[in-house]
Amino acid sequence: MNYENSFEFAQGMDAADPLAKYRAQFHIPQHGGKDCVYFCGNSLGLQPVTAAAAIGQELEDWKNLGVEGHFKGKNPWKDYHEFLAAQLAHIVGAKPVEVVAMNNLTVNLHLLMVSFYRPTAMRHKIIIEQGAFPSDQYAVKSQIAFHGFDPATSLVELKTGDDIAPLIDGSVALILLGGVNYYTGELFDLEKITRLGHAKGCIVGFDLAHAVGNALLKLHDWDVDFAAWCSYKYLNGGPGAVAGAFVHERFANDGTLPRFAGWWGHDKENRFKMGPDFKPIPGAEGWQLSNPSIFGLAPLKASLDIFYEAKMENLRRKSEALTGYLAFLLRDKATIMTPVDPARRGCQLSIRAKSKKVFDALTTGGVVCDWREPDCVRVAPTPLYNTFSDVYRFAKIFTEVPL
Ligand SMILES: *Cc1c(COP(=O)(O)O)cnc(C)c1O
Repeated sequence: MNYENSFEFAQGMDAADPLAKYRAQFHIPQHGGKDCVYFCGNSLGLQPVTAAAAIGQELEDWKNLGVEGHFKGKNPWKDYHEFLAAQLAHIVGAKPVEVVAMNNLTVNLHLLMVSFYRPTAMRHKIIIEQGAFPSDQYAVKSQIAFHGFDPATSLVELKTGDDIAPLIDGSVALILLGGVNYYTGELFDLEKITRLGHAKGCIVGFDLAHAVGNALLKLHDWDVDFAAWCSYKYLNGGPGAVAGAFVHERFANDGTLPRFAGWWGHDKENRFKMGPDFKPIPGAEGWQLSNPSIFGLAPLKASLDIFYEAKMENLRRKSEALTGYLAFLLRDKATIMTPVDPARRGCQLSIRAKSKKVFDALTTGGVVCDWREPDCVRVAPTPLYNTFSDVYRFAKIFTEVPL
C-alpha cells in the first residue's frame, strides 16, 4: 500500500473504507466535545449502541415474566448462551459445537486445565511465553502445584524471539501460550505451534484474550486442543463480560476426560429432571457449570452480531491496513517493539516513548491509550470503530510533542 503522511490521505482512506459504517454502531467517548481517539480496545472495547436495548429486553422479560422468562422470554434464558454460538464459532474459526460463552477467562483456563493438564512423572511440564499475563502465570503455577509438581522444574518459559521447537520434548504435557502477547503485541504462529506440539505428544491450548476478534483464527482446522478468551477486550462485551471457551470436536464425546461438572453442562433433555448422574452435553457446552448471567450475555450478543455481519476476514483486511498506516507514520521516528510484519501481529503496536511526556501529551490531546512502565505506549487501532484519521491524529501528537 502506498501511504502518505497527510490528513487528506487519511480522510480519503476513511471515505473509501467499506467498514466505515460500523463506527456509528458504537458509543465513542468524548474529549472536549469531540470524539476521542480511542485506542484501548485491547483493554476494554467500546459499547455497541445496541447493548442497552439488549439488556433492556431481558429486564423487561424479568419484570413481566419472572421465572417464566427461562422458557417464555423473547430469548428464553435456558437457551441464551446458544444464541451466541454461531457468532463465536465464526470469530475463532470453529464449529458451533466447539465453542461456548461461559464464566470468565481465568476460570475457564482452570476448568480446561482440569481436563487437559494431566501430568505424569515423565510428562509434567507446561510451556508458557516469557512475560505471560500475570493471571495466566498464577493459574498455571497453581495447577502445577495442585498436581504435586514444582513450578521451578515444571514451568518452562519461551523467551521472546526464541524458537519454541527445541523446548518441546516428551517431558512437556501442555503448551499454553497467549495467541497475541498482551505486552509486545506479538502474534504467535498458532498452527505451527500446534503441529510441533502434537508431533511430540503434547496438548496444545491457547489464551486468546488479545487474539480473539483481532487475529484471523482457524482453531478447528489448526487442530488446536482447547482455548479460552475474555470478551471485554476486542469483543466489546462490556466490563467483566462472559468469557469464551473452545474445545476441539475430537473431544466432543470423549468420556475419558476428567472434568469438573455442574448442572449447566448436563444433558439438556434431562437437566430439569434433577437426576444424580452427570451426563455431559457433547462439545464445549459440556464444560459449563452454572447458569450464565443473562445481563452479561446480552451486550456480548449485541456486539457479536456486529462481528458476524462485518465478518472477520473483512475486519482483518482493514486492520492490517490501519495498523500498517500507523507503522508507516512512525517509521524512523519511534522504536516499535511489536513485529511490523502483519503475519506476526494483531492490530496493536507497542511503541517505546522517549519520555512519559509523550503519553501525557496524547492524553491531553484526546487520545485514550495505555502506558506501561518503563517506556511503553500500547495502542490498538481496531477496525470496527477506529479510522485512518484517528491513526493520523495519534501519530501527529506522538511525533511532534516537544521533549
Ligand atoms: C485480560 C487478560 C486476562 C484477564 O483475566 P480475567 O479472568 O478475564 O480477569 C487473563 N489473561 C490474559 C492473557 C489477558 O490478556
